[in-house]
Amino acid sequence: VNSVQATAAVLREFGQPVDLTVVDIPEVEPGTALVDIVVAGLCGTDVHLQDGRLQIPLPVIPGHEAVGRIAALGEGLELDATGAPLAVGDLVGWASSIPCGRCRACVQHLQHSLCPTRTVYGINQTIDAWPHASGGWAERIYLQRGTTIVKLNDSMSPLDVIALGCAGPTAVHGVVGLLEIRVGESVVVQGSGPVGLASAMLAKLAGARVVVIVGAPSSRLDAALAMGTADHVIDIEVELDTRARQRLVRNMLGDEDADVVVEATGVPVAVVEGIDLCRAGGRYLVLGQYTDHGPIPINPHFITRKQLTVLGSWAFTGADYLAYVDLLPTLIERFNPAQLVTTFALEDANVALDKMRAGLVVKPVIVPGPSER
Ligand SMILES: [Zn+2]
Ligand SMILES: [Zn+2]
Repeated sequence: VNSVQATAAVLREFGQPVDLTVVDIPEVEPGTALVDIVVAGLCGTDVHLQDGRLQIPLPVIPGHEAVGRIAALGEGLELDATGAPLAVGDLVGWASSIPCGRCRACVQHLQHSLCPTRTVYGINQTIDAWPHASGGWAERIYLQRGTTIVKLNDSMSPLDVIALGCAGPTAVHGVVGLLEIRVGESVVVQGSGPVGLASAMLAKLAGARVVVIVGAPSSRLDAALAMGTADHVIDIEVELDTRARQRLVRNMLGDEDADVVVEATGVPVAVVEGIDLCRAGGRYLVLGQYTDHGPIPINPHFITRKQLTVLGSWAFTGADYLAYVDLLPTLIERFNPAQLVTTFALEDANVALDKMRAGLVVKPVIVPGPSER
């Protein structure tokens, strides 16, 4: 037996726990790489995927955000996406999706996250299809041709890089790329999970005058204040009435509604409240509805009357991932996001999923091998 193997967590059926399986990994081909996973994140999407909220093919090795060390490089893969040389042993991160590069979204619109046939690690690649090791919750992953790979600076620890996980580049795509927050704006972020916290951090870096996070639980909001990601917080488990929350926000913003509101909750009804929180002429980014939780009645009159700009944002691109890695040293110095992380062994992936679902941890991270922080 010459083949490389890896133990991986596999989701076989919606609503069921993952189980551990050993997968055979093919030899690297030109342009591909074999990577030993150092850390792999869990994100809210993984919980929703397990619950069957997105139609994906099964069985799948979950894990669309990870950091690892190169174990083998295929012929021709000599440089990362920034032009830095790649070698076995290098610590690398990679964008979770590979756009086809041939369709209208890719070629004409240059909107690579909207490529209808893009490959997404840990989401739409089954364990049965080549190259089998296509998710991060495993000892190894096989990076396919076309992956945006970035060599990571040795000054950053793997936990620093994974702390915001896909939320970091997702917020770059939406908050930096589409929303374009301007210096001096007031920003309300709905949601205090990783996407909400990352959005608040980027709003701060972009020069927001004031950032308010509306979310829960209180431990997360306290952490957001302590990290300096928010100036004010509103705990939705304490302040249950949306009208009262709107008044609180107005008080915090100097008797004004928000210039900009970012939805990062994944809860449809939050969009109704978000429209109310925007000032007339304001902008609203719906960032957190990655999986489908059904419709909600809204009053479109308010969108017209307030002349709102309502934006959606879908996933992120290799370009967003590179921009995020460029921002990481600043984010680490200013906010130390690694404090959000709780680590789990690979065999405890179900414990991590359950704790994430229960809101008991902000950022669960799987460490499949010996820890290297
Ligand atoms: Zn994610
Ligand atoms: Zn495409």
